[in-house]
Amino acid sequence: MNYGKKSVSRKRNSLISRTAMMGKRAHVSFIRVLFAVLITICVVVGCVGIGAFRGIIDNAPDVNDIDISPLGYATFLYDGDGNQLRKLTAPSSNRLPVSIDQIPVDLQHAVVAIEDERFYEHNGIDVRGILRAFVKNITSGNLSEGASTITQQLLKNNVFTNWTKESTWLERFTRKIQEQYLAVEVEKKINNKDVILENYLNTINLGAGTYGVQAAARKYFNKDVWDLNLSESATLAGITQNPTQFNPIEHPEENAKRRKEVLDHMIAQGYITQAQYDEVLNDDVYSRIQAAQIENSETENTVYSYFEDELIDQVINDLMNIKGYTRTQAQNLVYSGGLSIYTTQDSAIQKILDEEYADPSNYPDYVQYALDYALTVKNPQGEEVNYSKEMLELYFQNEDPEFDLLFDSQEEGQSYVDRYKESILADGSTVVAERVSFAPQPQSSMSVIDQHTGYVKAIIGGRGEKTASLTLNRATDTTRQPGSTFKILSTYAPALNEKGMTLATTFEDEPYNYPDGSPVNNASRSYNGTTTIRKAIQNSINVVAVKCLEEVTPELGLQYLDNFGFTTLAHGTEADRDADGTVWTDANLPLALGGLTNGVTNIELCAAYAAIANSGNYIEPLYYTKILDHNGNVLIEKTSAGRSVIKESTAWLLTSAMEDVVTQGTGTACQLDNMTVAGKTGTTDAYNDLWFVGYTPYYTCAVWSGFDNNEKLPEDARNFHKNLWKKVMTRIHEGLPDKDFDMPASVEKLSVCAETGLLPRAGCPIITEYFDIGDVPTDECDQHFYGYSDYDNSDMTEHTTEEGIYNSDGTQTDNTDDNTGDNTGDNTGDNTGDNTGDNTGDNTGDNTDNTGDNTGGDDGGDNGGDNGDNTGGDDGGDSSGGDAEE
Ligand SMILES: [Zn+2]
Repeated sequence: MNYGKKSVSRKRNSLISRTAMMGKRAHVSFIRVLFAVLITICVVVGCVGIGAFRGIIDNAPDVNDIDISPLGYATFLYDGDGNQLRKLTAPSSNRLPVSIDQIPVDLQHAVVAIEDERFYEHNGIDVRGILRAFVKNITSGNLSEGASTITQQLLKNNVFTNWTKESTWLERFTRKIQEQYLAVEVEKKINNKDVILENYLNTINLGAGTYGVQAAARKYFNKDVWDLNLSESATLAGITQNPTQFNPIEHPEENAKRRKEVLDHMIAQGYITQAQYDEVLNDDVYSRIQAAQIENSETENTVYSYFEDELIDQVINDLMNIKGYTRTQAQNLVYSGGLSIYTTQDSAIQKILDEEYADPSNYPDYVQYALDYALTVKNPQGEEVNYSKEMLELYFQNEDPEFDLLFDSQEEGQSYVDRYKESILADGSTVVAERVSFAPQPQSSMSVIDQHTGYVKAIIGGRGEKTASLTLNRATDTTRQPGSTFKILSTYAPALNEKGMTLATTFEDEPYNYPDGSPVNNASRSYNGTTTIRKAIQNSINVVAVKCLEEVTPELGLQYLDNFGFTTLAHGTEADRDADGTVWTDANLPLALGGLTNGVTNIELCAAYAAIANSGNYIEPLYYTKILDHNGNVLIEKTSAGRSVIKESTAWLLTSAMEDVVTQGTGTACQLDNMTVAGKTGTTDAYNDLWFVGYTPYYTCAVWSGFDNNEKLPEDARNFHKNLWKKVMTRIHEGLPDKDFDMPASVEKLSVCAETGLLPRAGCPIITEYFDIGDVPTDECDQHFYGYSDYDNSDMTEHTTEEGIYNSDGTQTDNTDDNTGDNTGDNTGDNTGDNTGDNTGDNTGDNTDNTGDNTGGDDGGDNGGDNGDNTGGDDGGDSSGGDAEE
């Protein structure tokens, strides 16, 4: 057939010349006129027909643009060591490509025999098949479609996928013409039957969610396609005509009938012998299929992990933002693009988190269950109505105002669900859909990052069984108040980094108010007087943090937080306007204590601390390193390139102070026997959120605990997060050489006055502290008395290295006067004697509580009693301090 432009224009020309000729003839007979008219009509109709045909062909896709290879391939996730973590598939992409030489010849023959017996001879369309189908259709009056060759089916499946929606006869006709035309063109262009058959066998729908012969072989027989025998091949070949009806798992009898047809065709076409035929018919292939299903179901976990959930989110966002895909395109790529995604997950570390989070002994004994509920019913009027957990809560609050969605057992919660549902269904409504789930409480989340690379090694988004994919992820999605973990990031980092302050810089820890008059409460409800930044970090003193941020300014603090990678902060822009029209900003003094508009996610808090652990360089948390496309080309590659947020010296100084947090401050519960640790605790004012973020020279780990509904954590539930941190990090570091955080050359050690942080002069109490070489104090202390009569310098030096004698209650100078004289030389045990007069009463009783934690220090005057609670180990402060932040 030739539908080229030349032949059409030739026919058009002949039509024109004919009509012209007719006009010239004057005397023509009626018969001749009629004849001419008839011919004209025939020609016109023919031309129009040819023209229409041309149009159909012209509208067909260009054969050079056609890619007959299938589109939907499974995507694979690999862990940091290259082990396969998971196969991601969309409903139509559970496809594992194989080459034709991997596909058994018996399977090739079986498919050809049943689907397209003249496949190896025809040129893309089967003229004999079309004619036979045409005759059959005419005689039967049934206008079903005629024979479709393998080449045509391949085009239908991979190129004309949107043609399944055609409705009219004309559309069907048009499509059929184009399909046949292109089938011929494709065969001409490719000129290789094996290539066409290979693509076809990788494309076909073989039921049970499998596409292509390899996926089907894995699914039905739990083996590779190259291991299939004739019997199994015939089984697969029998499916393709109707993948639901001939699914050999669900309908073995139907498949068996079809399989026999396949074998009939094969023997008739000479592909197999009678002996083979008989043997296969006697083979009980279906019990093998059933057995394979049991094996499959044991190995297949269809619920994605929290890491995988977040990874998929990230990959889709990156494909949109970096590669410019639409969301739909990106999703299609992820689930059916045949990508290879190399993740940063460390399977060994993830396993440790999984195991510890699954261990009930790591949680408070008293477990409660938070209900998540949704119900859709059809009411008697036929309308669908939705009910939520909030509506259920309101319903029961009518009878009990204290009612909430926390239950002592799932059974108790279920009984309320049942009662609620009963009340809804009382009018004859019927259930359309219902979702009931219970999450154990209090909850917790954890993330682990390798600070040197930014690789997210493991995350866990909650305790309790994960029952579905893409569920609430408390490590990456939920924002919670960070409490005192923010002191380091919002306040002390900028203070040390660019405000000329040092760890020896002192502030008065004393009763203090915010500008609006509300008090800044210390967790201990007590005050320690002159306090260095190092001590304020160690013991998490709120007053000092707030005073320090006043000097730093909240605006600068917020800028540092942005640089530390937080994306959930409020900046007072239009984006921060709430429904009531209020525009929120976090550039306020409570920022020092982590009082935020929206809170932060666990992973971002972890990444910010990882920046300190990484010498001040922030690296965006990475969930994967590269994505390869279906052909193995790099689609996206991630690097660990970071940005410097704070100087190396600042990072090390903060680390040094946070080592004190763990050795003698609020974080002693997170000491590791096998590794050096620096870290910071965080508690919000009403114990809604508890944190510990810490790092070793190897890894950074953030743990959060709290109730999903933001309830206050009971007293016995305020430490389990630290225990989880310690257990997980101990196991992660097993076998790793213990080492210290390397002090950079830009830091030096110096003795300074403990009260002023300036160069000491005779009479100054002295501490040793580390400084950035650019921030070494140059001024001498001007606050102490010199030449005091019974002052003994050497004694003093020894004494003051304990750095705690300075007392606090308000009037510093007076106090110093008294104390220096009296306390000289003796610190422990001598307080009663020497301090008598002013101090006896308070000290004797209360100081016994202080042993150890107060390091002979803070004792002097009026503070004694309170201090027992304050610095006494890591929890004393937390539990007794009322509702102040720690
Ligand atoms: Zn001094």
